[in-house]
Amino acid sequence: MSDARPAEAAARPADTAPATAPVLAVRDLSVRFRMRGGRHIAAVTAATFDLPAGECLALVGESGCGKSVLASALLGLLPGNAQTAGRALLGDTDLLAADEKTLARTVRGRRVGLVPQSPAAHLTPVRTVGDQLGETLRELTGVRKPDLDKAVLAAAERASFPAGHLDRYPHELSGGLAQRAATALALVGDAPLLLADEPTTGLDRDLVHRTVDELRRHVDAGHALLMITHDLAAAERVADRIAVMYAGRVVELADARAFFGAPGPRHPYARGLLAALPERDFTPIPGMPPELGDLPRGCAFAARCAHAAEACDAQPVFADGIACHYPPDRRAAGRAPHPFPEEHTGA
Ligand code: SF4
Repeated sequence: MSDARPAEAAARPADTAPATAPVLAVRDLSVRFRMRGGRHIAAVTAATFDLPAGECLALVGESGCGKSVLASALLGLLPGNAQTAGRALLGDTDLLAADEKTLARTVRGRRVGLVPQSPAAHLTPVRTVGDQLGETLRELTGVRKPDLDKAVLAAAERASFPAGHLDRYPHELSGGLAQRAATALALVGDAPLLLADEPTTGLDRDLVHRTVDELRRHVDAGHALLMITHDLAAAERVADRIAVMYAGRVVELADARAFFGAPGPRHPYARGLLAALPERDFTPIPGMPPELGDLPRGCAFAARCAHAAEACDAQPVFADGIACHYPPDRRAAGRAPHPFPEEHTGA
């Protein structure tokens, strides 16, 4: 893809621990939904990653792979039939174990800012953007008149929302301005962690660029950003690292520059995702993802994978940034059997 942001930061190995304590540390996070008839849906299984300050991790994958469920779990917004396991540490608070009062009073908005999927729907339709910013500022920062108007202007400016539009209602805003208003609201509490759930959905490419560039500015100012997206071009533009999800599992965790450039993705599914892009090979991955309520015992990608072999009947363990029995580099190093000689050449 050609519209990647200029890469100024040196690439860091994807699973190297950050020098300082991460803002968010997710360990073996799993989410199951109890359904009628005793059925279970395995929406997320054993997700593990760290997210330090000043970094954007983009969680990518097809619709229904579990990435939005993971985001909802972090915010304590799962429905009543969900069961969670593992840990998601935001400082010393385990987001999975925290009660609703703690999440509502001390986490959402204050320690985790949400840039929502549908900004226009997220904004209160009967109140102007300025009113909503003022109310959020009063609630999260305690600022009062006569300083409130100045604080509203400063909050709008942080998200490049024009001061002249603060008296507008959400239905009077374009998609881009609604996005900026929602971003401004997400930033009011100066939360160390920003969670952006499909922030570019429905935007044209120019607005996608402006939106992700804006998010990137907040990352560069020291926020940690977890961006959930199926938009790989947006992920390439903003992310430092990429986590690829398939059938509820993180199957690859990679440095973004290595992932989108050379040597490229390592997991066969991740390679397929990139190859399906029109600006690449425009070749779709054959078949469909499995039902999360009826996952196979072994690798969930096996039915679609050209490299599946007998070992793939067992679940691959996530190690060295990948969950695959036959990653290309391990085959090349001779540490695993390489039943695909055409890939052994490094192609
Ligand atoms: S574990 Fe096997 S089936 Fe799964 S992605 Fe790797 S090679 Fe393909």
